[in-house]
Amino acid sequence: MGVATLRARVPGPDQARTLAVFRDLGQQLELTMVESGHSLSLQLPSGEIALKQGKSEVALTLTAANDARLYALQQVVFARLARMQDPVLPVWDHVDTGALPPTLAVTQVETVTQISPNFRRVRVVGTDLRRFAEGGLHFRLLLPRLGHAPVWPRIGADGRTEWPEGADAMHRPVYTVRAMDPGGAWLDFDVFVHEGGRVTDWTLNAAPGAWVGLMGPSGREGPDAGWVALFGDDTALPAMARMLADLPATTQGHAYILLETLEDQQVLSHPAGVTLHWMSRQTGGDLLSALRSQALPETDRFVWFAGESAQAATARALLKTDFTLLRHETSVSGYWAQPTPATPT
Ligand SMILES: Cc1cc2nc3c(=O)[nH]c(=O)nc-3n(C[C@H](O)[C@H](O)[C@H](O)COP(=O)(O)OP(=O)(O)OC[C@H]3O[C@@H](n4cnc5c(N)ncnc54)[C@H](O)[C@@H]3O)c2cc1C
Repeated sequence: MGVATLRARVPGPDQARTLAVFRDLGQQLELTMVESGHSLSLQLPSGEIALKQGKSEVALTLTAANDARLYALQQVVFARLARMQDPVLPVWDHVDTGALPPTLAVTQVETVTQISPNFRRVRVVGTDLRRFAEGGLHFRLLLPRLGHAPVWPRIGADGRTEWPEGADAMHRPVYTVRAMDPGGAWLDFDVFVHEGGRVTDWTLNAAPGAWVGLMGPSGREGPDAGWVALFGDDTALPAMARMLADLPATTQGHAYILLETLEDQQVLSHPAGVTLHWMSRQTGGDLLSALRSQALPETDRFVWFAGESAQAATARALLKTDFTLLRHETSVSGYWAQPTPATPT
């Protein structure tokens, strides 16, 4: 049962439609949903969204384990309502206008270490990091522009996150918590260094004490099945390392990890029944070929794929049509996008 609650009224003449956009969310994400009469409740990884249809408005109640998760749920509500044809804004019973979002941890760089030819490990220190241990593996890295003092996002009067703009705008890519201090004093993330990457450039210049924001945690936890197959590239190595370490010891399966060079291999904890397959681009390694030739058990299985976006789209189609896996048996994500070549004019 959650400990933080927030209520809102969603005005508007078409309350059935308001409920419908949340029902769609539940169906898309295959969330646990309870519907009775004019009420609907959804269980998300960060907490519960409950809606009750009234005469002239929908009453909304959000419940979560802490303020950060409550705020994350609130932002889900905004994103969902924005999909309506005539979007409506909820009226919250309380907004901390001007405060820092509770999902934001303001941290400072302690060290940047080259751990292998193409990976740099960044250790940050801060005061509110313990909550990144659960509720998702990922976070948004908020990088102030080089040479600019950071201007952090704030909570707007309507409850939405207000992002700094113009010269204060931040680069906000998603990264994965690789490891953290059980006491919450430090957190590590691994950066795959690549040509033209703004984070890559930042790691070259980030001096101890440099400010950086972490917004999260976000995303789902690892797979939950007796047999798993994980496919991921360099950017997914931190997430795969976390998931493999968290799998029950009895789990069977395979993990295929595509790296620039095998010198980037890491020592990973994993169940004895899960075989690791390290592959390198330099010797023709290819995640989609590995996926195509993987045999799957009939039941109690889960396939996870993360890498370049176009490859992820191909993997998603393969898993659906060739492997005929159901949605709850897969998780496929594009972690980065290859730039599309400019079309000649
Ligand atoms: C859920 C999730 C978790 C992630 N976790 C991690 C993580 O732990 N570690 C990690 O390194 N990455 C991770 N990524 C990927 C990372 O967010 C992207 O690679 C992001 O684009 C990096 O930003 P950048 O500033 O380096 O590049 P940008 O400045 O955004 O892009 C610059 C150029 O680099 C290209 N580019 C971006 N990524 C790559 C790449 N991997 N290889 C080659 N070219 C690239 C872009 O197409 C663009 O042309 C994760 C992504 C997601 C969605």
